[in-house]
Amino acid sequence: MKHGRTFNFSAGPAMMPEPVLEEIAQEVLNYRGSGMSVMEMSHRSKEFTSIYDEAVADLRKLMNIPDNYKVLFVQGGGTVQFAMVPMNLMKNGVACYVDTGSWSGKAIKEAKKYGEVKVVASSEDKNYSYVPDCSDLDIPDNADYVYICENETINGTTFKKLPNTKGHILVSDQSSMFLSKPCNVEDYGVIWAGVQKNVGPAGMAVVIIREDLIRDDVPDFVPTYLKYKTHADKDSMYNTPNCWDIYCCGKVFKYLLNLGGLEAVQKINEEKAAVLYDYLDSSDYFTGSVAKEDRSLMNVPFVSPSKDEDAAVVAATKEAGFDNLKGHRSVGGLRASIYNAMPKEGVEALVKFLKDYEASL
Ligand SMILES: *Cc1c(COP(=O)(O)O)cnc(C)c1O
Repeated sequence: MKHGRTFNFSAGPAMMPEPVLEEIAQEVLNYRGSGMSVMEMSHRSKEFTSIYDEAVADLRKLMNIPDNYKVLFVQGGGTVQFAMVPMNLMKNGVACYVDTGSWSGKAIKEAKKYGEVKVVASSEDKNYSYVPDCSDLDIPDNADYVYICENETINGTTFKKLPNTKGHILVSDQSSMFLSKPCNVEDYGVIWAGVQKNVGPAGMAVVIIREDLIRDDVPDFVPTYLKYKTHADKDSMYNTPNCWDIYCCGKVFKYLLNLGGLEAVQKINEEKAAVLYDYLDSSDYFTGSVAKEDRSLMNVPFVSPSKDEDAAVVAATKEAGFDNLKGHRSVGGLRASIYNAMPKEGVEALVKFLKDYEASL
């Protein structure tokens, strides 16, 4: 890696593509002759307006977003969406949630403040190490939506098949898998993603929402800023947006388009993840924590035979120049997050290190 950069396996904030960072560095003092950096620029300026328009157009192209969906950039990171979803979409006050781990758990907890939450499937019985069968869920007729966390960042599971929502709207938290593979937007009412896992700097979420779900008749207590309509009506510029984040995300959208779009990205990600999973399957020392059929392409939790040994391996990886491989405190072990911007060489280097470590025992 150039510039003394490290292979950063963090679950987020995570690595950004090096060519994107280089371009940003080039433009940081004087953005394309404007005499200022994007950090200093008015969100109403013609330079920023074109940065914004291009970012939205590139994301639309990348995900093939139909015309009847809006793209919004909302501040407050992913967590604000846990509240915005129920505040805006609970018309009947009932929603169904699939409980697959830490992040769906947070969404459930928050939604309960605004209405009745029905947990229609859960994988809690096996410590969230798999994705429950969602082909025949018990969904009440008046349910406003069905909610999933499509890739559980901490637990390392991912939905290979979307739930059968029986005609109800599907809402998906795609934070840790956003743009990692093609996505058929029409299958969803709302897709949202905190951007710091697979796109840009923390503090913002991309929300892709079907237009008929953007309502004005939300409860009076809903703050102006937390209505999707506020953002939709003003093209995400009701107040000063996070211009810097939109600019960085826009560069990543363009970078992914130039790589060949999401089919190409998926192919790279599958090859990359296979390097690690194949090793874990062949190892006598390490074990992957997730049921094979539900494994995430992005977050790979695994364990050694004991907690003490886990800690020793984490320390050794750190010593060897790999960063942030400690598993989340709620599940322990190790976790390698291998988002879009993690180069394949990073995963190959890690696997070589783990192999040598195992051989030295
Ligand atoms: C990181 C993450 C979030 C929360 O994002 P913040 O920007 O830290 O609020 C929500 N959902 C998932 C799946 C995540 O990985």
